[in-house]
Amino acid sequence: MARKIQVSVDHDICVGNAMCITIATNAFKLNDERQAVSADPDGDTEEIIMEAAENCPVAAIKVMDADTGEQLFP
Ligand code: SF4
Repeated sequence: MARKIQVSVDHDICVGNAMCITIATNAFKLNDERQAVSADPDGDTEEIIMEAAENCPVAAIKVMDADTGEQLFP
């Protein structure tokens, strides 16, 4: 069974270009300030979420194991 993933976005550096949402369409969404926030991390595979995090131009995305708290990215 796939492990549960948790994501967080650093709003001090997110520039709101929505690249993460283009890749992981379910895990992220834009808030009213046009910054990415966690939506449904169970809605995309870990592989897709990692790809989204790796493609954030400002490295604003942190990916964690939701159960253990282990940091998976960066
Ligand atoms: S890809 Fe990075 S900078 Fe762009 S919206 Fe997502 S978190 Fe923000």
